[in-house]
Amino acid sequence: VDSLVRGGIDRDYEVTLPAEQGEAVTLSVSASVMRGPSKEPLAIVCVARDVTERKLAEQEIQRHREREAALHEINLATTSTLELHTVLDMLLQKIEHLFPYSIAITVRLFHGVTKQLEPIASRNLDDEKWKSEEWEAVRAFTSQVFHTQKMLLIADIQSDPRTSNPPFFRRHGLVSYLGVPLIAKSETLGVLSFYTKQGRSFSNEEMDFLSTLASQAAMAIQNSQLYEQTKRQAVELERANRVKDEFLSVMSHELRTPLNLVMGYTEMIKDRMLGEINPEQDRILGKLLGRARDLLFMISGILEATNIGSKTATVKSTEFDLSDFLNELKLAYELPLGNDLTLDWEIPSDLPVMKTDREKLRHILQNLINNALKFTNDGQILVATRYLAAIKMVEFKVSDTGIGIPNEALPFIFEMFHQVDSSETRNYGGVGLGLYIAKKFTELLGGKVEAESQIGRGSTFTVALPLIHVEERGT
Ligand code: ADP
Repeated sequence: VDSLVRGGIDRDYEVTLPAEQGEAVTLSVSASVMRGPSKEPLAIVCVARDVTERKLAEQEIQRHREREAALHEINLATTSTLELHTVLDMLLQKIEHLFPYSIAITVRLFHGVTKQLEPIASRNLDDEKWKSEEWEAVRAFTSQVFHTQKMLLIADIQSDPRTSNPPFFRRHGLVSYLGVPLIAKSETLGVLSFYTKQGRSFSNEEMDFLSTLASQAAMAIQNSQLYEQTKRQAVELERANRVKDEFLSVMSHELRTPLNLVMGYTEMIKDRMLGEINPEQDRILGKLLGRARDLLFMISGILEATNIGSKTATVKSTEFDLSDFLNELKLAYELPLGNDLTLDWEIPSDLPVMKTDREKLRHILQNLINNALKFTNDGQILVATRYLAAIKMVEFKVSDTGIGIPNEALPFIFEMFHQVDSSETRNYGGVGLGLYIAKKFTELLGGKVEAESQIGRGSTFTVALPLIHVEERGT
């Protein structure tokens, strides 16, 4: 009043009258001074309007804004990492800051193996005690929330008839319980529980907010659980792969020793070092040796492939004349073919000197040529080589007029042990390693291999290698 009178100006202000009963009331007051002829104050006129509703609406909007911002912040924080414990830590920390009064928060997640709601993280509770048996008293509530997938509010947890152990809650000074299910993509992951400590319960608004927050948290938790599961699986897979490679490597090693012995003795008998043999015995021993060589080839293939897998394969580059190399390879194939099948070589006279791992190149081409022979009954197999001077690459093409490879199988033929027809009754021998080795060797030499095929018409395999293999570190 004094300041009104002294200042002589009209004043508008808002007052909130504390509630003695019922709700607090906010008034908007306009006050002005009525003055006499010589400006002496005569009276103060006050007009007061009840603006409680407007005030509440404003506060509501303000709170709404704050919560939106908080949800956004929580979303950012919990999606910035996939590490479950970091996600939960950030989540609980943010929730705690949002509440004007002290609350305790706990997270329990359902464990697929123990089939229990396991204690995972907590705030404002003695963590050791919380994880201990004492908290069995709360289990009933959390498990109800989990199974009904509905929020549960117990306003006075110390005296509610549903509470099995009231002294326990009194001892910890916990007043209200609010359990919110963590549901993501219709899977219930666990329960987020809140406890008030200072004689007050949760408002409807807070409950709505916490429920929105829980669904956001559930998504983040599910993502990190999936991530950790994938990580575990990757480790297991790698281990399984390593065990498989080691097994194959040891096994093929162990098989090779006795096989070499069998072959050695067979050769000795065949060469008549142990006495005369008749032509029939000679023929049979020849067959025996042939099959033993096939077996050795397959076993060596497995050994090589597993070496590639364990990265112990090394490149030994030397310089050699490409035409000489191809003519030598051609000699090895001068064997009788079927009547209607020819094996032709295109070896241009001006091929350059190449520097790469000669043995590996021979292995690659042999695998492709052997396949062409295996899968072609009649027509032509052509091994064509050309030098692409502009890009300093050498291209080898092995094409056949054989059975071809179905389109849908083409992307997989270079995989280990992959065969288009892997049935027990298949017509062609082999273990599905030839192309795998060819591809791995080609890559080791810095090149690329591709396959084209038309079923019933034939297949073409193209290998492109750098003329000069540049040694990489470690090779
Ligand atoms: P395999 O020991 O079975 O020959 P490869 O890795 O060499 O193993 O080949 C994998 C599969 O690719 C073969 O089983 C076959 O189905 C297919 N394939 C490879 N080369 C040819 C070809 N020239 N013509 C038809 N099919 C082929």
